[in-house]
Amino acid sequence: MEEWRLLDTGYRSAAENMTLDDVILDCRASNLIPNTIRFLQFDPPAVLVGYHQDIEQEVRLSYVKNHGIEVNRRLTGGGAIYFDRSSLGWEIIASKVSIPSCHWEGLFRTMCEGTLNALQRLGIQAAFRPKNDIEVDGRKISGTGGTERGNAFLFQGTLLVNFDVETMIRALKIPIVKLKDKELQSARERVTCIKWELGFQPSYREIKEALKRGFEQALRIKLVEDRLTLVEDDLVKKKLPIFRSEEWIFLDRRPLGEAAVVQAIGKTPGGLIRVSLAIDKGANLIKSALITGDFFAFPSRALLDLEAALKFTPCEETEIREVVDNFFTTNYVKMPGVAPNDFAELILEAVDRASYEPLGISSSEANHLYPVTKHMQDLLRGSYDYLLLPYCAKLLSCSYRWREGCDKCGQCSIGEAYELAEAIGLKPIAIQSFEHLMDTLKMMRENGSKGYIGCCCEAFYCRHKDELEEAKVPGILIDIEDVTCYDLGKEQDAYNGKFEVQTELKIELLSKLLNQLYHRKTTG
Ligand code: SF4
Ligand code: SF4
Repeated sequence: MEEWRLLDTGYRSAAENMTLDDVILDCRASNLIPNTIRFLQFDPPAVLVGYHQDIEQEVRLSYVKNHGIEVNRRLTGGGAIYFDRSSLGWEIIASKVSIPSCHWEGLFRTMCEGTLNALQRLGIQAAFRPKNDIEVDGRKISGTGGTERGNAFLFQGTLLVNFDVETMIRALKIPIVKLKDKELQSARERVTCIKWELGFQPSYREIKEALKRGFEQALRIKLVEDRLTLVEDDLVKKKLPIFRSEEWIFLDRRPLGEAAVVQAIGKTPGGLIRVSLAIDKGANLIKSALITGDFFAFPSRALLDLEAALKFTPCEETEIREVVDNFFTTNYVKMPGVAPNDFAELILEAVDRASYEPLGISSSEANHLYPVTKHMQDLLRGSYDYLLLPYCAKLLSCSYRWREGCDKCGQCSIGEAYELAEAIGLKPIAIQSFEHLMDTLKMMRENGSKGYIGCCCEAFYCRHKDELEEAKVPGILIDIEDVTCYDLGKEQDAYNGKFEVQTELKIELLSKLLNQLYHRKTTG
């Protein structure tokens, strides 16, 4: 049986670990060392971006800096990962001829077998999930990636042992717009680790032994423990400064603003669906997707698989629809009250939000704008005659709180909004209840109004989108700040015009939007 070297390089800094990857791969490509399996760990914890990624698109740099987390760049492609002190890395550095199937897809599957065997030995039933993950019941426990140099390749994976998911979520720019509790919870549900699966944490000696046996079985080899050669040691000393340098770490720095995290939310008979996408604007690709909601899906992993299928899909309508349709025709998925087209429409709406920049709206601002009756691109080119404002943003002690109107006394954001509207010829109306809103829309329709700009919370828009559409008056709604009546379970009070908490308008975004529309009207 062929003997391979087993290296355990223990805890190292991110730069040292990245240098070791480079040196060992180089030495293997030059036939200076045998095929090698390496175990690696990180101290301090580290965020590692994929070779082609832009750090500023992927990492919350101020957060990692303030929390003693290192940042570095891998030799391998793929997405950004967080390596805490508990995670265990594994790597295969070998000549291409040593593994029968050397095209990447077959290789990924074969390389993951060692870890699958190891997890089974530890008592965890895991499976390979295309394109490159190992999962337990749909939850990721190991992500993998690879690269090649000459006749050698490096294939690597992270095994989550007792994972700090909270820090991972905060360190990486995963497609979560507001880091709200529900979204955090749903991101937590997408990963697992050895400790959560077993209810206890085996020692690293046991885990490494299981991995050793797992790789021996999968690759039909015998692993012999050894250390770095003198040549490798020497090269590590020489190359370490390169992997510590900003030039390496910030290698593929693209102009700011190329990354976009966009989202869309919609109500279906089956429940609410929220789609969040991280989009690579340069490559025009969906980098990752997060789909959440309160609807039922069977099997429960269906959404995770749909998210995986959307990864790297071009941001084009035909291709997005094709991926969604293929997913639902080739998988047995049941989602009562939710149709495949609901997903396709929301994905397209989210993708569209990354394209308002020429109209003066950034993608993060676009996430707070909701269209009524028309496509947003058309609405942003339209003209309007009313500004509808919610009474919940009025000062609680104001005499106008429970009646229409405002004296523009300057004590709340409603006064400012009235001034902005009047300055460009819009008629402001403070909406005092749901009934008042419906009456106002009816009046606008009967008077041939061009449409309205309005402010309301996202929850109101989602719940009442159908009624707003049925009123047949075009409009753009802008999200508001703060806790809403829905968050407080007071929506019935609010419906009747009796909600006793003050919210705040997004006055900057409102002002920007009104300026854009006014400017377009006067110049165009
Ligand atoms: S700005 Fe208008 S709504 Fe606000 S406190 Fe003054 S009068 Fe009342
Ligand atoms: S639904 Fe509640 S929080 Fe939202 S705009 Fe209306 S009153 Fe304000």
